[in-house]
Amino acid sequence: MKREQRSALGHEIAGSSLAVESQSLQELIREQLRLLGEDADRPGLRRTPERVEKALRWLTRGYEMSVEDVVGDGVFEAEHDEMVIVKDIEVYSMCEHHLLPFFGKAHIAYIPDGRIVGFSKLPRIVEVFARRLQVQERLTDQVAHAIQDVVQPKGVGVVIEAAHLCMMMRGVEKQNSKTITSAVRGVFRDDPRTRDEFLRLVASHSLSS
Ligand code: ZN
Repeated sequence: MKREQRSALGHEIAGSSLAVESQSLQELIREQLRLLGEDADRPGLRRTPERVEKALRWLTRGYEMSVEDVVGDGVFEAEHDEMVIVKDIEVYSMCEHHLLPFFGKAHIAYIPDGRIVGFSKLPRIVEVFARRLQVQERLTDQVAHAIQDVVQPKGVGVVIEAAHLCMMMRGVEKQNSKTITSAVRGVFRDDPRTRDEFLRLVASHSLSS
């Protein structure tokens, strides 16, 4: 009985502190609008702080997610020992330097060592890390690390190609530039032929699309 009361109380405290946080984030966004020279009370902007907060919480929901949770029981024993590659996984993330989006595609490959992971789990692993404030290099690395950790394959390779709005919309407006990052582990690092095969498969696809 005592424990129930305590957890009910704990819940209430957590709930109200989130409400306070929510309030202050919206106040900050309102203040930001004002500092940018806007009238935060005009009809078009009146509900903007609320909308922005909602959007930001959605765009950073990866902080509430874990690889363990999204993979669940999606790892299976399997004899297959050829390269598994999943290409063109959509990536949407936020650059931590400008709080502007970067987006593109991730290509993931691994060579199993007795275990495989369900195909649908790979995009979800990407989501865990993409839905946070990021730099593309770290995102690529974290995805590779997570797959290494979960599947324990002979090796893993991850390539992400992305367009950054902070580059496209600011300054020199390099509208067609694309940033490509890669991370390799295990045989993808140690065996040039494996790495080349992976990069060739990724590149050949990119050229044809
Ligand atoms: Zn940026």
